[in-house]
Amino acid sequence: MATTVNKQKIVTVLFSKVKKVVSQEQQELPVMEQVIYSICREGSSKEQADEVYQKLIAQFFDWNELRVSSVRELEECFRGMTRPVDRASRVIGFLQELFETTYSFELEFLHKKGLKQATKHLSRYQVSNDYLGAWVTQRALGGHAIPIDPPTLRVSKRLGLIEKTQEQVVEIRNTLEHLIPKAKGVEFTDLISTIGMEYCHEKQPNCAACPLAKECQFATENAKPASKKPAAVVKKSK
Ligand code: SF4
Repeated sequence: MATTVNKQKIVTVLFSKVKKVVSQEQQELPVMEQVIYSICREGSSKEQADEVYQKLIAQFFDWNELRVSSVRELEECFRGMTRPVDRASRVIGFLQELFETTYSFELEFLHKKGLKQATKHLSRYQVSNDYLGAWVTQRALGGHAIPIDPPTLRVSKRLGLIEKTQEQVVEIRNTLEHLIPKAKGVEFTDLISTIGMEYCHEKQPNCAACPLAKECQFATENAKPASKKPAAVVKKSK
């Protein structure tokens, strides 16, 4: 049976209960660095992304050394994450394209372009995708955007924040951006992704431990009904 979803209540519970267990410390990075960080962060936890980003900084002398490194060398840094080869290729590809077009490793000039032109510029990089554009918009350009990666999508659908039938990432992003105020965008992104990584696994969501279980559409619809059988009477031995 379909359940009625109180989206605002879910969001309120997310900001109150889940916030207590998630680190609110943010990576304050310039625009170019946020592009690299977004490649680390998509589909992974904040802790994983922080760790990998720090490895990239520590193990390579500068961005140029990263640019001329092999995918195999970078792949080591992404070990433990999903798609390490793809992530390594994207970092190298982005640095290469940036260097070929600007002869530098910075994108601070995007601040002067205005949000619309800046996001358009970002979307032209071959490694760009909707997540990357939304992440950089939210973290470095001062715009309102909710980056959608697989954990965010999965949790949003199961909670009922978006429709089960919604598949288009831009439409999903618009729905969430409408629901979440701009000032709460960063927090929402980190909280929902934490739920996705720690409880709401694709195959076996751990609803029993999830702080959002009471408000969750999926958990309610999939809860096992209590048995109506009377408890077996244990005969006393004489
Ligand atoms: S209650 Fe279960 S399905 Fe709902 S968000 Fe939590 S883990 Fe996912």
